[in-house]
Parts: sequence; C-alpha cells; structure tokens
Amino acid sequence: MRRRAVVAGYIRFVPEANSTSPVPAPAGATHPLAIGPVGAPEATVDGFVAQYLRNLNFDRGVTLSASTANDRFYALAYTVRDYLVARWLEGVRRYRASDRKAVCYLSAEYLLGRQLDNNLLASGLSDIAAEALAQCGVDIEELRAQEVEPGLGNGGLGRLAACFIDSLATMSVPNVGYGIRYEYGIFRQTFEDGRQVEQPDSWLELGSPWEFPHPEAAQTISFGGSTEKYDDGGVTRSRWVPAWSVQAVPYNYMVPGYQNGRVNTLRLWSSRANHAFDLSVFNAGDYVEAVRAQTFAENISKVLYPEDSTAQGKELRLQQQYFFVAASIRDFIDVVLPEDFDLTRLPERAIFQLNDTHPVIGVPELMRILVDEKKMEWDAAWAVTQQCFAYTCHTLLPEALEVWPIDLLGRLLPRHLEIIYRINEEFLLAVRERFGDDEARIRDMSIISPDGAVRMAFLATVAGSKVNGVAELHSQLLREKVLPAFDEFFPGKFTNVTNGVTPRRFVRLANPELSALITEAIGDGWLTDLERLRELEPFADDADFRTAFGEMKAANKRRLAATLQARDGLTIADDHMLDVMVKRLHEYKRQMLKLLHIVTAYDRIVSGEVEASSVPGRTFVFGAKAAPGYDMAKRIIHLINAVGSVVNDDPRVEGRLKVLFPPNYNVTLAERIIPAADLSEQISLAGKEASGTGNMKFALNGALTVGTDDGANVEIRELVGDDNFFLFGMSEPEVEALWARGYTPAEFAEKDAGLGRALDLIGSGAFSGGDASVFAPIVSNLMNDDRFMVLADYTSYIAAQDRVDDAYTDTAAWQRSAVLNVARSGFFSSDRSMRDYIDRIWHTEPLG
Ligand SMILES: *Cc1c(COP(=O)(O)O)cnc(C)c1O
Repeated sequence: MRRRAVVAGYIRFVPEANSTSPVPAPAGATHPLAIGPVGAPEATVDGFVAQYLRNLNFDRGVTLSASTANDRFYALAYTVRDYLVARWLEGVRRYRASDRKAVCYLSAEYLLGRQLDNNLLASGLSDIAAEALAQCGVDIEELRAQEVEPGLGNGGLGRLAACFIDSLATMSVPNVGYGIRYEYGIFRQTFEDGRQVEQPDSWLELGSPWEFPHPEAAQTISFGGSTEKYDDGGVTRSRWVPAWSVQAVPYNYMVPGYQNGRVNTLRLWSSRANHAFDLSVFNAGDYVEAVRAQTFAENISKVLYPEDSTAQGKELRLQQQYFFVAASIRDFIDVVLPEDFDLTRLPERAIFQLNDTHPVIGVPELMRILVDEKKMEWDAAWAVTQQCFAYTCHTLLPEALEVWPIDLLGRLLPRHLEIIYRINEEFLLAVRERFGDDEARIRDMSIISPDGAVRMAFLATVAGSKVNGVAELHSQLLREKVLPAFDEFFPGKFTNVTNGVTPRRFVRLANPELSALITEAIGDGWLTDLERLRELEPFADDADFRTAFGEMKAANKRRLAATLQARDGLTIADDHMLDVMVKRLHEYKRQMLKLLHIVTAYDRIVSGEVEASSVPGRTFVFGAKAAPGYDMAKRIIHLINAVGSVVNDDPRVEGRLKVLFPPNYNVTLAERIIPAADLSEQISLAGKEASGTGNMKFALNGALTVGTDDGANVEIRELVGDDNFFLFGMSEPEVEALWARGYTPAEFAEKDAGLGRALDLIGSGAFSGGDASVFAPIVSNLMNDDRFMVLADYTSYIAAQDRVDDAYTDTAAWQRSAVLNVARSGFFSSDRSMRDYIDRIWHTEPLG
C-alpha cells in the first residue's frame, strides 16, 4: 500500500511543501498503469495510458491531478504524435532513398480545422485513446473542445488545400504542402447589434502541440535593392543585390494518411528578423532601430489577409507570397533533394502546383535560381521551369485576378521583374510568329497589362505545363471566356480537375452516425474508395434503412442544437426542416436571394396570404464571414441578423420560421452544421462560382440541394439525378443573353408582386425599427445595379422553394432522395481529385 502511494505520487500528486497527503486521483481512474511505472508506447490501452501520463509528467511538467485542461489536451496530442512520428520519419527516409517525384503543393492558405480527431482516426487510435482516457478519469470531450482550429485560410480555397494533402497522404503519394504559418489566421467573427465585428484570431496563444519548429533550419529570404551585370569569364550575367532580408523558419506538421502508415509533411514558414542584417544597425548604435527592424521582419507572417475572391495589391501581401514561395523552392532543392542534384532533371523529382495565383512569383524565382545562381542557359532553365509548374485557377470574377503594379514589384523584387519582362518578350515574339503583328492580340495576351501591371494569371498560364479549372463548367468558361487566346495558343494546356472533399473529415469524423449506417449496409472500404457508396442505392428503397437514416438526421440535429445552445444560446425546433446556407459572404454567392425568400415567407404569413399553422416549419441557418473592408457584404450580414430578430420574435409567425446565424463560421462549426442539414443552398449566379466544395459536403451528408446550374452543382445534379435536386434560375448562357439584351432589375421587381413587397419591407425599415436608411443601400443596389442578378432569379427561386416545401411533406420520398444523394456523390472525394491531378497533370506515383 505504501509503495503504491509513492509510485502514484510520482504520477499524479501535487508536490505541496507542507503536505504529505496525496491528492486523490480523479474519480473513475481505474487503470493500473496510472499508478505503476510507464513503458514504451504500444498501440494498446495500457501503452496509451503510459505514454499519456509520461507526456503529462515530462513534457508538461505536471501531474494529472495538478493539470489544466490545456495540459491534458497537450499530453493527448503529444501522445498521438508519438505514435505517428516513427512512421513519419520512416516515410521521409524511404522517400529520400527513392527517386520519386513529389508534389510540392504551394498554397498561401490551409484551412485545416482541428487536428486531434483526424490524427486519432488516421492512426487507428480513436477507441484506444477513448478507453485510455476514461481509465485515467479524463473527459475526452473536454479536451476536444480545448483545441483551437488553425484558421490559416479564408474559405473554400484553403480548405481545398487541406483536403488535398489529406488525400495525398492517404494515397501514399509523396507530397510536401508549403505555406505560411500566420500568427493570426482568419479573424474571429462576433456580432454587435447584428453587425459583424472582427476579433484577432490568436490561435497560438496557448501554443500548438502539432508543430515541430526548426529555427536552426531557417532560410534567408531577400528583398529590394537592385540588379547588376557582371562579367563571368567572358559571359555577361545578371545578379540581384538585395537591400534587406528576413529569415524564414520552417514549422513542420504531420499529415497522416488514413490508417496506411504514411505520414506526409506540411511545412509552414514563419518570418523572423535576420540577425546578420540587424548587427550592422546595432554597430551603428541604433538599438531602437534594430528592434524595430525585427518587428518589421516578423510582420511578414503576422496575419492572413481576410479577403476572399478579391485581389488587394498590397505590398505586404506580395512580401508574403515571395517569402513563402522562395523559402519553399529553396527548401525543396537544397534540403529535400540530394546534394548536387542535377537541376536539369528537376522535373523528374518535383511538380510545383500553384494553388491560384498567390504563389506565381515562384516562376521567376526558379528562373533566377537556375539562370543566375546555377548558371544555366535561359532556354534550358525555361524548359525546366515550364515542366515544374502547373497552375490551378479558382475564379471567374475579374476582381479576383491578381495583378501587381510594375513599380511595386520592381521595388521589392527587381531581378524578378527583369525576368518577367524577358519571359513576356519571348512569349510575345512567339505569338507574333504564329499570328503576325496583330497588335490587339499582343496587347490582350501580354503578361504586362497596358496600365503597367503584371497579370499573374497570364504569367502562370504561360509558365505552367498545365492550367486547370476546378469544375467542368468552370474549366469550360476559363477556356472560352477568361483565357481564350491562351487556349488557342497552347492547345492541350487547359484541363479540368473537379474539386473534392476528404470523406475522412467530412463524413467519417463529422457524421459518425451516417458512417456507421453506411458500414453496416455495405461494409467498410468506402472511406478510401468513395465510389463504393453506389452500393447504397438499393437501400434507398428499404424502409428500415430510410428510417435509420431519418434517425441519423434527427440525432445530428440534436447534436447541433446542443452545440448552438452552449455556444450561442440559440435553440432549434425538433420538427423543422433545416435549410442551410454556410459559406463566405459574397454578393455573387447571393445570400440576398436566400434572404428575399425568408422575407417572402414571412410576408405571406403576416399579410394573411397563408395561415401560419399551415406553413411547414423551417429553420434557416446562416454561417458567413465578410471581408472587413467589404461594406455591402457587412450590410447583408446586418440584414440577416435584423430579419432574424424580427421573424423569430413575431408571434404571428407561431414559430414556423426561424432564422439562426451563429457567428464565426469555421471548419469546426461546418462539421456540426452540415451533417444536420436537410437542404443545402447553392444559389450563386450561374457562371460565377468556380466549383464550390460546401455543396459536395452537403450532398455526401444526405442533404438535398436547391441550386443553380453553376460550378460543381452541375456535376452534382448530373450524378444524383434531376429528381433529387431542386434546380432553379438562369443557366450561364441565359445570364449572358440577359446581359446582352440589357438587364434592368427594377422591371423584375414590378413583374413579381412578392418580390416587390419583400424589397419594400426591407427598404421601408421593417427590419430596422422603422429606420429606412439602414438597409436602403441594399435595396437601391438591387434595384439599380444588381450585378449578380438576384432579382432576375427570384421568381424561379421561390417556385423551387415551394417545390421543396411540398417534397418535404413526403418523408419517405425525401429520405429516398437523401440516401440517393449520398450513394451517388462518391465522385466528390478529394481522392478522386488527386487521381485526376496525377493522371492529367502530375504524372507521379505512390510510394509503395
Ligand atoms: C467547405 C468550406 C468552405 C467552402 O464553402 P463553399 O460553399 O464551397 O463556398 C468555406 N468555409 C469552410 C469553413 C468550409 O468548410
């Protein structure tokens, strides 16, 4: 008994100076190893307990009884890490010993979401960890809630990068994800009187247990200065004489494949002052200036730009882009590849995939390395560069296409500007050779725009071996509307890879009930071969399965209700249809159209057109952040909240309509909301949403879509079938035709009385306490401009929503459609996206 107490004291006693009495173990701690010596980690409950307690003691320096929730979370994360690290290191060793091509995914954003459950699932430790913690008397739910998600992205583009690296690891494809370790990720959103307020996202405040910093491996990244020519044994060469530099410190994160023993690397760069540079200032005696310079250097990776689908042209942003791309390319060449690797063979070992234009400055950087530093001939260097890069375009909006004024670029990266000029010169020469001196064409295709800016999408297109859009319709419009001259000039360069989402996070982890149902019906294996969901089709006609499916949805709604109650004090009625629109707030996505539907449904009740009691219950859930400088988007957020407070509190509505807008939509919230949804709102103006990935997450979780023929909605509808999808609105050619005829939105408001009334209600101050001025700018924008044709699609949208109401009354038929949505959405796995990239662009192979 005595001996037990001593050993136990080592494990979990608080060392208190004047006390010899042991602090009692938490209630429920029954595991014998919690009071005995701990051993090496084995994948057993005992092994897990031992490693967990060891980490608490040795890494956190606390006993279990003295630990905080953060300590216990850290120790758990470290324990999961401990199981993964050996596989990770072994994978790195095997990759180095091979001569495989690696995918270097260059992305300014990774919207990762929480890591704990994902890493437990990938390592097959979920059940062991749950049992081990239970034996230690530790509440795993409490620890889950401790983790702050790294919000290192704005929305779809960043989340796509996170899904892709998950799939590559799961498919054993060698990959390094490269990006920026922003100290502040996407802002935390709160509402004050219904208006969005942004709070800094200090996600590193309590540290992150998943990162491995390597300050000793920092790279020097230079900026500014000038270029000079010099004689190199009879050859005239150029070199860059930069003015200042910073250090790029790599932070490694493990990216485990799903239960395949593979762990890839995500390497994010953090900026730090360059001490060699500071020293000169120190020597000059200006201590304060030296310290200021340090802050300046650290600014580069300080904050993620919160603009989604708008290019800002800010100098710091270009610094960020060059900072991470230069560090990444250098890292791959100097650290990952063997020493003295023959760089003419770089295309055999690396493909740099450009996630949008943010990393395109990597093109002149690789040219600079090859030509200036490695002294390669220009043409040979260009051949290497062209094979090493490929470009993914993510937009159709002109305002999202990045351009950099040449004076800014020349000031920050003078040698790169020279290289861009030469690339452009040679490219335009080739265009002239093909098409003659067609000056209009030359102007249209020049990488340098007539007003003196570098068009990064053009540079990427000229340099890339392939250019891809992200859904069939998007890739087609990219070729026909955005870059037609380039498609003509580079036959075969343009291709499509439809986006996907990882089923591990968005089905297995987000929806364990559905996952269990699927496995029970068709066995396992579907999680890494999602097309196998097809085998569920017959179950759509099985009444018992449909009932179980309905119970799954109900359970997910209860879980969401509990989350929203705890998080925001919001309540969800049990018997309501859950109608969800969650995505960034942008006019092209048309949250306004959804709002007009809600106002119309409200107006129908309060005007007496319909009896409240006859209205099917619906809860509308919004989630959306607006870019802080995007006034119209912020006004629409205010309006959503304003409509919500009026509709929710009006007794005439009898609780049939509810509007919920939990703040701070992020991956963690998405994982709760999407599995509970009945209806998925994908209502962008046709021809504006490149793909969407939210739409795929919903379909895979058995929500029916009400949507336009836009982005990947087109492919979703083709796959799930017209009967299981609520299509509305103009097609892209119809949109074009209406623009060509001349669009006058006010005519649509006159033609449809319901629309006129909804606009009047908003414009007259019905949702702003009688103050018409608050939302008048929204109404006037819709009536006079309406760039995204909200009013033109209103009538069709309302008709679709009426069909939705009818369909929802037939529970069996609705559930049948929902099951078919799941069964037919296997195509939208990001594993399939990765196979398409491999076949069409990368030509890599898994590392066996
Ligand atoms: C999937 C996802 C998105 C993208 O949603 P879309 O509807 O495709 O715009 C944005 N944010 C989060 C948190 C996501 O998980």
